[in-house]
Amino acid sequence: MARLLEGKPIAERIKEGIKKEIEGLARKPVLVSVQVGENAGAASYVKSQQKTAEGLGIEYRFHKLPEEISEKELVEFIQRMNSDKSVDGIIIQMPLPQRIDYKTISQFILPEKDVEGMHPANIGKILFGKTRILPCTAAAVMELLKESTVDLYGKEVVIIGHSEIVGKPLSLLLLDKFATVTVCHIGTSKAGKLEAHVRGAEVLIVAVGKAGLIKGEWIKEGAIIIDVGINRVGDKIVGDVEFEGAQKRASFITPVPGGVGPLTVTILMRNLVEAAKLK
Ligand code: NAP
Repeated sequence: MARLLEGKPIAERIKEGIKKEIEGLARKPVLVSVQVGENAGAASYVKSQQKTAEGLGIEYRFHKLPEEISEKELVEFIQRMNSDKSVDGIIIQMPLPQRIDYKTISQFILPEKDVEGMHPANIGKILFGKTRILPCTAAAVMELLKESTVDLYGKEVVIIGHSEIVGKPLSLLLLDKFATVTVCHIGTSKAGKLEAHVRGAEVLIVAVGKAGLIKGEWIKEGAIIIDVGINRVGDKIVGDVEFEGAQKRASFITPVPGGVGPLTVTILMRNLVEAAKLK
């Protein structure tokens, strides 16, 4: 039976480190959070970020901008935050209205204030193994793997999902640890090859957003499983991996909820403190 890899205890340890770092700073770090229009999902993220930030001694400045704001006006707002010396980090809450493109907008945040680690300059630095500001979810997965104490050197690691926020940056972070990395995506599934890749995985990371995509019986004996997926099924939240079946075969598995989720917001705050220190 697999051991549970829970995010909360790791998050608590990282928070202790963050509090100490903040004590050593000349002033409270400031995180600017921008939401455009009303959105229940964004509002719940904001609440959780605000609570975590304030618990750590971080000033959380929330700005709700009108739904009808133009892309140009949003860029001007970001530029004002860029030149405000009291601001250490900027986060844009998702989703944005459809007419505003997140990829375009996020490139206007100065790389040194990009606490989500998604600016091309920060993503690019991952290639050289040289960044301290990492995309939050990818960094959360790396923390969970560290907790499992797995030596990634030479391990068969299979990532399912190649999004910019999870699969792509993770593949680079894992290569940096000398893992043998395979990245699967919709093309792998359509070619009927997903099961074969999963069966060979010593470490399996799934970030798709489809409940039950990965069958329990596909899991290699002793594998480590990090399930990033979040899916609502009835009144329950589940991951992408069939938990019961997988738990019988794996050595470590993350619960959903309670695995990756509790870590991502903590990593965001760690990125903010790194940004404040870089200044
Ligand atoms: P995304 O941008 O939609 O990416 C999903 C990926 O899965 C894409 O690469 C997609 O490939 C691939 N995919 C779709 N169907 C597939 C299939 N049948 N077989 C194999 N691959 C398939 O999503 P995301 O933002 O990376 O998020 C993924 C999941 O993680 C979601 O459930 C999200 O809620 C969750 N998440 C959790 C956290 C957390 O803190 N716990 C943070 C971020 C995301 P194509 O693009 O080629 O179709």
